[in-house]
Amino acid sequence: MIPLCTPSLDGNEARYLQECISTTFVSSVGPFVDRLEAMVSTATGACGAVATSSGTTGLHVALTAIGVGPGDLVIMPTYTFIASANAISHCGAQPWLMDITANSWTLDPALLERELASATRRDGGRLIHTASGRRVAAILPVYTLGQPADMDTICAIARVYDLKVVADAAAALGATYKDRPLAQCGADLSVISFNGNKTVTAGGGGAVIGNDSDLVKRVRHLTTTARIGGDYLHDQVGFNYRLTNINAAVGCAQLERLDDLVAAKRRIRSRYNGALGSLPGVSPFPRPDWSNGADWFSGIVLAPPALTTDQARERIRAAGIEARPFWRPMHHQPPYEHCLATAMPVSDDIWPRVLTLPCSTHLSEADQDRVIAAVQEILS
Ligand SMILES: *Cc1c(COP(=O)(O)O)cnc(C)c1O
Repeated sequence: MIPLCTPSLDGNEARYLQECISTTFVSSVGPFVDRLEAMVSTATGACGAVATSSGTTGLHVALTAIGVGPGDLVIMPTYTFIASANAISHCGAQPWLMDITANSWTLDPALLERELASATRRDGGRLIHTASGRRVAAILPVYTLGQPADMDTICAIARVYDLKVVADAAAALGATYKDRPLAQCGADLSVISFNGNKTVTAGGGGAVIGNDSDLVKRVRHLTTTARIGGDYLHDQVGFNYRLTNINAAVGCAQLERLDDLVAAKRRIRSRYNGALGSLPGVSPFPRPDWSNGADWFSGIVLAPPALTTDQARERIRAAGIEARPFWRPMHHQPPYEHCLATAMPVSDDIWPRVLTLPCSTHLSEADQDRVIAAVQEILS
């Protein structure tokens, strides 16, 4: 079986892990944590980066740092991994789910603007969702498959309504938006994940990046139990969300190869698009012209009247190739199906038809050719 996605750990990962053991720096203080934060800042053009124990905890602490709290609404696209919505819930807030655009699979700015104009009102300095009476606190765009959302447009709308923006950039390390690096897309804070299936992994982990040094400082303070000084004094309810030096060791070794890993992902995506994107009943994953995405996963979108996605997947799997469905939108998830939500025609059209295909960074051309030949045969 050619697997969907496995990490490539043949750089300095083992050596750095051994260094953690021999120096006894295994916990959340250690040189690899500092080094990882510096490497992430450099790679994303951020003034500061705070390593976290996961992307989810990074999102939670970022939302907390910008002031999201109990009862608030946070606007987010329905088409995402459930962690985006969970982080909002962990703040005691609720998602306000919106649809995506077909050409980017990211938050639809025109819909965002229409919803804010028609469904909210000002109350002093606060923006209130009229029907529910809840405060609208922030917008959380998601960089789907490492593809930045249309951030200039979204952030311009956010400014009109005085909303903060936290970007879920979990799989977007290496992406650019209008030639700007990840931390300069316009969000107040952006969050990366180093989960095992991401292009750059630390085993598990994440990072919050930003360009407002006070805000980044607040994130760091919150991740480290809001401790002030060395004698067990804490000035607020904080979190223990720090990354360990062991995880950071793996992350540093991976970050040393960031350009190569992202280039491999893009090469794999281009080859699939070239070979499969114009088969009858198939379309490629979208690539809007505003960005150079990080191409986290590759695959195809099946369009009727070819096989159903399930049938195609079964046949491809029978040929020894792991092919999987992708995200199920939040408005179809039990914890979120009763959330405030727009109509979702685009998400509902797309999500059942997405098929991800093997895309490990070390996938050989020969193996990719096998995948391509099998898919061509099954779909033509
Ligand atoms: C992977 C991912 C996350 C979660 O990151 P973890 O490190 O697994 O907590 C959040 N959002 C999106 C869009 C992701 O792809």
